[in-house]
Amino acid sequence: MRYNIKKIRENFPILNQQVYNKTFVYLDSAASAQKPVQVLLKEEQLHNDFYGNIHRAAHFMADKATAEFEAVRDKIKDFINAESREEIIFTKGTTESINLVASSFCEKFLNAGDEIIVSEMEHHSNIVPWQLAAQRKGAKVVKLPFSDDGVLQIEKLPELINKKTKLIAVAHVSNVLGTVNPISEITKIAHENGVVVLVDGAQAVQHIKIDVQKTDVDFYVFSAHKMYGPNGVGVLWGKKKLLNEMPPYQGGGEMIAEVSFEKTTFNELPYKFEAGTPNITGVIAFGAAIDFINEVGIDEIAEWEHELLEYAKSKLDKIEGMNFYGESPTKTSVISFNIDGVHSYDLGMLLDKLGIAIRTGHHCADTVMQHFGIQGTARISFGMYNTKAEIDIFIAALNRVRMMF
Ligand code: PMP
Repeated sequence: MRYNIKKIRENFPILNQQVYNKTFVYLDSAASAQKPVQVLLKEEQLHNDFYGNIHRAAHFMADKATAEFEAVRDKIKDFINAESREEIIFTKGTTESINLVASSFCEKFLNAGDEIIVSEMEHHSNIVPWQLAAQRKGAKVVKLPFSDDGVLQIEKLPELINKKTKLIAVAHVSNVLGTVNPISEITKIAHENGVVVLVDGAQAVQHIKIDVQKTDVDFYVFSAHKMYGPNGVGVLWGKKKLLNEMPPYQGGGEMIAEVSFEKTTFNELPYKFEAGTPNITGVIAFGAAIDFINEVGIDEIAEWEHELLEYAKSKLDKIEGMNFYGESPTKTSVISFNIDGVHSYDLGMLLDKLGIAIRTGHHCADTVMQHFGIQGTARISFGMYNTKAEIDIFIAALNRVRMMF
């Protein structure tokens, strides 16, 4: 395999540390991925060499910063194969991207009595904005359930969709179950019924090749910090036709064409949705993260992470008292579990003392917890930089903790 894990890891100095005098093992990339030096250097370079506020002043620094910022828009367009750069809107993150659509799309298209279908495996950020919009408009949020193995019951979609259905909100990959949902299939059913689809790609875009044109979804959203980029930056991609029809989300600088007390007109896409000074540093450094992913190769990353997933699962299967959540045949880089007689918080705390970072709790997905009648899970998740040796360390530590209970 041409995947050079040693070389990849050299770019992430944080991974070569010790915590509590133990080898540091980071198994929490689904919460936030570590950043390669290229991203950190880009931030530094920006502030040392060419910082200025973008789009506005006519001076060298501002021009250079603007060019770098806008070049990232093109990179993202190519990365997800969007049709045009105007469809790429920079936000604070997945959460803001979803709130933007829930606010603006629903303002225009949602009416009293309408329905929004939301899958049962969503992160809170893909449930609550729809509930707020539904409350404002007198509309209803309808659940698309998943079965106990963590597979979405899309066979139920045709009976859930009716003339009042306006939108389906679904994760591409569940942050708890790891399930990869069939977004093209969902979109096909939705479009046959005139329903718009928003896909939360926060847990997908760093693991799977995304082609928004091929899948034909209407909105696709994600966060830079889960893609080895900075936090505080995200993307909303939407079909131009829809974005053009939607009213602005926030008012302020940049999103206007002309302002007067009598009448204000709005800027074109994508600026119509980018009010105020954006996270210039974050976006420009995000470009370095995209370059890094492209250099390693998204297909190579996917293959490596799949190998890690299978390896970890085969080891975990041998441990007594394990309960797994999410056993979909289409799955990526996340394993959620509980061990009989061990509270997930205790497990997380004890593993931490052994140098291993995992996630515990409800993972901002209460509806998934409710489905299984549990309070929380332990969750390990992989990034491009994890190794089988790290999984071995984790398994040994897990066995040690188990013995303590
Ligand atoms: N959706 C999913 C599936 C997620 O995993 C997360 C982050 N845990 C979010 C949305 C929210 O992302 P952010 O906090 O970056 O806005």
